[in-house]
Amino acid sequence: MDYNQIFTRIYNEIRQYSKEGKQADYIPALAKVNPDRFGICLQTAEGSIYPFMDADVTFSIQSISKVLSLAMALSIKGESMWSRVGKEPSGTAFNSIIQLELENGIPRNPFINAGAIVVADMLLGELRNPEEEYIEFIRALADDDSIDYNMEVANSEKETGFLNAAMAYLLKSYGNICNPIDDVLMFYFKMCSVQMSCRQLSKAFLPFSQHNKQFDFNGIRLTTSQIKRMNALMQTCGFYDEAGEFSYLIGLPGKSGVGGGIVAICPMRYSVAVWSPRLNPKGNSVMGMKALELLTTYTEESIF
Ligand code: GLN
Repeated sequence: MDYNQIFTRIYNEIRQYSKEGKQADYIPALAKVNPDRFGICLQTAEGSIYPFMDADVTFSIQSISKVLSLAMALSIKGESMWSRVGKEPSGTAFNSIIQLELENGIPRNPFINAGAIVVADMLLGELRNPEEEYIEFIRALADDDSIDYNMEVANSEKETGFLNAAMAYLLKSYGNICNPIDDVLMFYFKMCSVQMSCRQLSKAFLPFSQHNKQFDFNGIRLTTSQIKRMNALMQTCGFYDEAGEFSYLIGLPGKSGVGGGIVAICPMRYSVAVWSPRLNPKGNSVMGMKALELLTTYTEESIF
């Protein structure tokens, strides 16, 4: 398949939407990013790489990080982690607090903010050097030691992340946070701040599409069945209250972030990462969604 040619065709079709949506500015550091960037990169199971436009420009991965923290928690804690966080779609926004009281401090899933904050707390409790081990896991997945936290973004979110702080306090009141709240929040903000390009992200996510290969990166091991379950969660919960729409339009498991990135996986075939900072009202990249919709339409490759 000539993905380069497909990307050119896709870009020509979607450029009419290039001014639609608005980049995230509730984290002030994210408002500084040029909103007109667009990059995409696809890596196949056979090892071919297809970078297009800004595929090598790094950006804030934000909630895409929640897949990677979940992978660590699942590897370390196994099924026991599900006593503290659910695996059902929430049907609410990524930063919604409304279900948390109604459901006694157990977040619906690990991809909404409340769930990812609980996962951050689990990792703080389990790892000796959580921040180091988290970034080393990503570096191993992407085979790239240059990947790092962006402290300007993490500190910027710390200054303004009152809703996340409110969630952490509510979780704590239900006994679902074990470590000091400031430590948990800072670790969560740092994980979200990791800076990666589409090329690095597509490489890092390829192992989640390879159910037939051993998953073992920096001591984090997942079984075939755990990889299957990670894909199931991305499919059902990866796009919050737009998970149904993403399934309908694209038909792949994936995860978005408010930095404008989206990763998606075609099991046994490829992983793809796309980046365009302007977001729709649900917090997902406008051009990213459109590009992936056309990708699975033109290639006729999806899980459905
Ligand atoms: N760090 C962001 C937040 O907590 C992540 C949100 C996202 O990417 N959807 O609000």
